[in-house]
Amino acid sequence: MSEVNRNVPYLSIKDLVVEYMSDGQVVHAVNGVSLKLDRGTTLGLVGETGAGKTTIAKSILRILPDVGAKITGGKVELDGKDLLQLPEREMQQIRGNEISMIFQDPMTALNPVQRVGDQIAEVVALHLEPGSKTNPMERAKEMLEIVGIPGERYYDYPHQFSGGMKQRVVIAIALACNPNLLLADEPTTALDVTIQAQVLDLIGDLRKQFNTAMLLITHDMGVVAQVCDTVAIIYAGSIVEYGTKEQIFDHPSHPYTIGLFGAIPDMNEDEIWLHPIEGLPPDPTNLPKGCPFSPRCKYATEECRQGVVPVSETPDGHQCRCCHMEEVRKEREA
Ligand code: SF4
Repeated sequence: MSEVNRNVPYLSIKDLVVEYMSDGQVVHAVNGVSLKLDRGTTLGLVGETGAGKTTIAKSILRILPDVGAKITGGKVELDGKDLLQLPEREMQQIRGNEISMIFQDPMTALNPVQRVGDQIAEVVALHLEPGSKTNPMERAKEMLEIVGIPGERYYDYPHQFSGGMKQRVVIAIALACNPNLLLADEPTTALDVTIQAQVLDLIGDLRKQFNTAMLLITHDMGVVAQVCDTVAIIYAGSIVEYGTKEQIFDHPSHPYTIGLFGAIPDMNEDEIWLHPIEGLPPDPTNLPKGCPFSPRCKYATEECRQGVVPVSETPDGHQCRCCHMEEVRKEREA
């Protein structure tokens, strides 16, 4: 394992730009995203479907589709090493050993015709150091126990498990090689609400136990409140607000973030209706000039539509990309 460099964040994404080609048009999926994640902490990446969240995770692992997708700018540094410049052979070592990913749907993440234990053991065997005394089968049983499944179920097939149990197996596979970074892409979206809470608790506990950094992709602010230390709000491929969980929840400053809070129920208020954000996200092949949120924003002025809106940062590091941040904040906190 590489020596820990405490002066740089464990994961640092700088000005990442990703484009897809679709029907002869350029899809601007990720437009200059910068993020940081320290060891042992959790960053929530929050936004609507199609905002670019999964594309960012796949860019970190370099598993974007070969045809049509292209990283056209930026850096992805893991412990100071630019992953985008590494030979594919080195990247293969990093996947699973240093970085693992939990996908949204356990049904598609597991092989239906292979015993679940073998699926875990296979990953362990693939990443064994030469001369290691680890027995992949024993390690697979141990991982099943860690995620709350009896080791003897090693021999069962995915169809013999419930949705929540399957996701536990997926988590066991992701953590089997003790990765330093876990990319969790909507890990509870495909599960029943009651199971969601259990799986989230499990991920949180294991993350602490293994001191794993986690990038948690979600559209659910409730999940963020439960699990994250820092939060990045993404809209149309750009980070629009970024800060600690307390900064984002106590002082949301971007109209889109405030809109996200309006779309979840407040148990302390006697409200009958939720307030979803009106309108739709922009067409990523034809983004509006200036702020991409301007067509849906009640604060929008000509200034917002002039060009790229700069990021403002408070002395305590709360970042927001909005021309009228002070006005928005004052109105919200009045
Ligand atoms: Fe609204 Fe303007 Fe802020 Fe964009 S920059 S969120 S349009 S006020």
